[in-house]
Amino acid sequence: MAIRLLILLLLLWLARQLWRLLTRPAPLPPRAATMVACATCSTYIDQERAASALFDGQRRYFCDTACMARYAQGERLDRPRGR
Ligand SMILES: [Zn+2]
Repeated sequence: MAIRLLILLLLLWLARQLWRLLTRPAPLPPRAATMVACATCSTYIDQERAASALFDGQRRYFCDTACMARYAQGERLDRPRGR
């Protein structure tokens, strides 16, 4: 009797695994990289690889953390300099 129960449990487990396999969301199609401009030096980078942070509630993208640091220190293209 214990064997039957074991087999039943095994079948349930297999059914669950199969169900998971079949209902798995389809993999995303390959997409073109979304390019964003570095907020400091305007270099275009892949958005997924860009460093990003929120400034004044807006997400800004940077080619690297050095540019992010420069932006944080006030070197911004969208603001007048020399204030
Ligand atoms: Zn940059």
